Amino acid sequence: MSDNKTSLLIIGSGPAGYTAGIYAARAGLNPLLVSGPQIGGQLTLTTEIENFPGFPEPVSGPELMDKMREQAQNVGVKIIEDKIIEADLSARPFTCRSETGQTFKADSIIISTGASARWLGLESEKNFLGFGVSGCATCDGFFYRNKDVAVIGGGNTAADEALYLTNFARSVTLIHRRDSLRADQTMQDRLFNNPKIKIEWNSVVSEFLGTDTPKSLTGLKLKNVKTGAEKELKIDGAFVAIGHHPNSELFKEWLDIDKEGYIITPPNSCKTKVSGVFAAGDVKDPLYRQAVVAAASGCIAALEAEKYLNELKKQ
Ligand code: FAD
Ligand code: NAP
Repeated sequence: MSDNKTSLLIIGSGPAGYTAGIYAARAGLNPLLVSGPQIGGQLTLTTEIENFPGFPEPVSGPELMDKMREQAQNVGVKIIEDKIIEADLSARPFTCRSETGQTFKADSIIISTGASARWLGLESEKNFLGFGVSGCATCDGFFYRNKDVAVIGGGNTAADEALYLTNFARSVTLIHRRDSLRADQTMQDRLFNNPKIKIEWNSVVSEFLGTDTPKSLTGLKLKNVKTGAEKELKIDGAFVAIGHHPNSELFKEWLDIDKEGYIITPPNSCKTKVSGVFAAGDVKDPLYRQAVVAAASGCIAALEAEKYLNELKKQ
């Protein structure tokens, strides 16, 4: 058991958390960052990133996040490998408790706990994650030029991803577990009118198929939920688009949270309902969910926290 006192506690070690740390440390706020269970955040799940500025050659997710961590440490961010399991935002200093029994008392907090892509939960899905299985078409679609891909899901994200993928892929098969889509009508019309898109209705993926050396996805085993019939679909890439889950559970008692679990902040700001508590990155972003956007909002949160702490000093 130990007590940590800080002017600024940053929760999460993704692009939002590390960027917030870099700005806050350079502003002399001596921030303390708790990394959480996934050190480096969601990008550590991906093999190649081509859309983060500053890297003319593709950079692996873990390498990019190692560099961000190193940069944060170099400017003075203190990083603690632990997970926050309890938060009390009722009064300042705010109090958080961690999995290992540490207590954190902070004058301000930046919540950058991200959002986790929902996955189907199959062992074979985990096996090919980053090797043909992806949770992000904007990130990985480029690698499937003239290839055959599948998108799993029937909501707006799946529709968006399927349409986006037609810019690269030879064919896109949308796999949906029911016989009608959840996506809105405009998106449906676009899907139905795109000659590259085919839909497998009433179908679920029962297995992701592929080779071990080299590790690569080659197809999907599909099961028709109405007839029970199984078949194999040959594809090079599969995009799981069955929704995202923002990691905001701990804070829902204290903050305004929308019906999907995203922390609500005003436009162009990371402020929350509680003065001194800020939210940055995917945990408050139902729209873009990109690393560079998360990093930018980490920057905004740190600048707002700096201003808040300066005001506090004057009181
Ligand atoms: P995250 O990266 O999700 O980080 C959240 C952090 O919070 C983690 O460190 C986690 O450990 C921590 N945390 C969670 N709960 C707690 C807790 N209770 N206590 C303490 N810490 C906690 N975007 C791109 O721009 N380009 C890409 O090529 C790209 N590829 C992607 C590939 C995949 C497979 C996925 C899933 C996403 C990809 N994205 C990509 C999206 C990008 O990863 C996210 O937009 C970005 O990581 C969001 O950053 P974040 O800092 O908000 O949150
Ligand atoms: P969503 O609307 O919750 O849709 C998730 C889809 O995945 C549903 O079709 C669901 O099937 C399916 N699904 C869920 N779990 C599954 C499982 N285990 N196996 C197979 N399929 C599964 O999520 P979303 O599409 O990510 O959208 C989230 C929110 O963002 C929505 O409000 C959406 O409108 C919004 N959004 C808007 C746009 C846009 O306007 N362009 C783009 C993206 C997202 P069922 O339909 O059978 O439940």
